[in-house]
Amino acid sequence: MALYTMKELLADARKKGYGIGFFNTVNLEMVRACIRAAEEANSPIIIGTAEALLEYADFDWVAPLMLEQARNARVPVAVHLDHSYQVETILRALRAGFGSVMYDGSRSDHRDNVRVSGEIVRVAKPMGVGVECELGRVGGLSDETGREDSMVYTDPLEARDFIEATGADFLAVSIGTVHGVYKSEPRLDIGLLEKIREAVDVPLVLHGGSGLSEEDFKKTIAGGISKINVFTDVILAARAALLESKDLSYIDMCRRAEEAMQDAVRAKLTLFGSAGRA
Ligand SMILES: [Zn+2]
Repeated sequence: MALYTMKELLADARKKGYGIGFFNTVNLEMVRACIRAAEEANSPIIIGTAEALLEYADFDWVAPLMLEQARNARVPVAVHLDHSYQVETILRALRAGFGSVMYDGSRSDHRDNVRVSGEIVRVAKPMGVGVECELGRVGGLSDETGREDSMVYTDPLEARDFIEATGADFLAVSIGTVHGVYKSEPRLDIGLLEKIREAVDVPLVLHGGSGLSEEDFKKTIAGGISKINVFTDVILAARAALLESKDLSYIDMCRRAEEAMQDAVRAKLTLFGSAGRA
């Protein structure tokens, strides 16, 4: 298949009311697990990597691998750059041929977030590349000093003004989710999500999707989320498989981990309602 863009995939998801999973990858096993899971489920999928993962994923190795395998897949696959704070990382993804990028200005003050997000949209748009931005802040990620982000809910009216001012194509919203493993029960504000949905006319993205209940996912998709980022659940599945297979050879351990990731990804695609939509 031709390479798809996140914009194309999310437009269909939004029209038909299902969600599409986004999965970060750092190596061949993760890329293959995602694409095979999508092919098995006959589902569209978005794969990519993030700035903080580049210490694990050598960009010059993983980016061509993702793009090539996305083109060869039997289902629509889009390649996206997740959380990036440096303009340089975004330019690398644009040059490599990614269909979309995320600039995360949620750690900056609001005016800087608006200004830099807008500048990135102005560069990306003429190249046909979609830009995801974040307003409010989904907590749980750590900055370069190791300090963990606190959570700030997205304000619906601020979101409307933000999209108008920046021209961003997708908006990551903060409605109570947290990146990584939940330390206490997540409390989602679906009412707030519905208000954001009414206020802005771009696909909405849910970060911190690992650890939510099936019911939570269904509610957020019904409430207007089109893309769901999942990472922790997938690497936890791989870790459990590795621990269970520690008497095997290295290559068999890798295979077990990959199978476990493939199962975890396929389960999410089914849950999000994208299975059978390829
Ligand atoms: Zn995120």
